[in-house]
Amino acid sequence: MFYDAIVLGVGGMGSAAVYHLARRGARVLGIEQFGIPHDRGSSHGVSRIIRLAYWEHPDYVPLVRRAYDLWRDLEGSVGEPLLTVTGTIDGGPPDSRTIRGSLSACRTHGLAHELLDAAALSRRFPGYRLPDDHVAVFQPEGGFLFAERCTLAHANAARAAGADVHLDQRATGWTVAGGGVQVTTERARYHAAKLVITAGPWLAAVVPALARHLTVERQVVLWTRPLRPELFTSDRFPVFYIDTPRGGFYGFPLDPARGFKIGKYHHRRQRTDPDSVDRTCSPEDEAALRDGIAHYFPDANGPTASMSTCLFTNTPDEHFIIDRLPDHPEVVIAGGFSGHGFKFCSVVGEMAADLALDPASSRLSLFAIDRL
Ligand SMILES: Cc1cc2nc3c(=O)[nH]c(=O)nc-3n(C[C@H](O)[C@H](O)[C@H](O)COP(=O)(O)OP(=O)(O)OC[C@H]3O[C@@H](n4cnc5c(N)ncnc54)[C@H](O)[C@@H]3O)c2cc1C
Repeated sequence: MFYDAIVLGVGGMGSAAVYHLARRGARVLGIEQFGIPHDRGSSHGVSRIIRLAYWEHPDYVPLVRRAYDLWRDLEGSVGEPLLTVTGTIDGGPPDSRTIRGSLSACRTHGLAHELLDAAALSRRFPGYRLPDDHVAVFQPEGGFLFAERCTLAHANAARAAGADVHLDQRATGWTVAGGGVQVTTERARYHAAKLVITAGPWLAAVVPALARHLTVERQVVLWTRPLRPELFTSDRFPVFYIDTPRGGFYGFPLDPARGFKIGKYHHRRQRTDPDSVDRTCSPEDEAALRDGIAHYFPDANGPTASMSTCLFTNTPDEHFIIDRLPDHPEVVIAGGFSGHGFKFCSVVGEMAADLALDPASSRLSLFAIDRL
């Protein structure tokens, strides 16, 4: 069959792209090298933060708003909850990039928020113990997404809208010819008018021209059994990102099955490759995360429940790549999500479908390939 579009890589972003393409009536094929979901890319580990007070750049705020609407639509389509609102805490010294950026996003976009000192934060949310010279921005609309459920929901809704999704099939190459694209896998050759590449940490392997702009980085997260679990339930403990002298830490309220989850932003800054990454978690990995719990969440510093590795795909400025390839406008790239992309999957799927199907749609300059 000749497809209107092929989506190469059906993880967090690709599942959303397949869904949005299929919903518009396009004949679409998603090709995934593993299953849906799986735990070898960037979109596993139960939960992902969604937040509006976007300290990285205020231009993300309208995109997060659109992402919320689309996540809620998807919940309606599949009939299961995907997004839990807990509020968000951005913490750090008053002059840190996180606090300045978070306040700037709130003020620029008129977001509800409160600025709390460390003592007020602990009174309000007693699981938190920030240093006296730190402050926190509380934004009540933030929360978290169930990551694997989101990917599966997009894939299932895409199939229901008529998409084909082929699993356990690695794409080994693609070419552009005669106004269309050809994708070769281990088993077959497929043709389409457009190609959307959402290969996550494998993006550099699939599009070598982008390799010099991308760094894959090994991450580790830790789940503990808190000493005082009642302080970390989702009604009393907002998700957080804290910018501290010991590093940036992010985390979530207690998951009844898994425990209290914490990660350290960029972890131990280990560059890696998705096919050879060390997926065994070491005492050094645990120590890096315990450091954050012991200092800032001492009542969560109980026994280890589990640990897991995951991958970031970083661009030099840590903004995304969502654009057509300059030499091949029939190929759309959505990648380089630099450790903060998951919340946007729903809206990135929509943007990728726009770029693939609508010649008049233009990319955002923040995500343009030619900025790199
Ligand atoms: C530990 C950790 C914590 C994070 N926390 C947050 C957070 O709190 N909030 C947030 O918004 N973001 C967060 N992120 C970032 C976010 O999870 C990622 O930006 C997002 O999941 C990237 O999705 P993706 O679709 O690009 O990658 P993936 O989900 O990995 O998808 C890529 C897919 O392409 C497939 N593929 C690749 N090559 C081929 C091929 N040749 N043939 C067939 N299939 C192929 C892969 O198998 C994979 O399924 C976090 C990331 C990590 C690792």
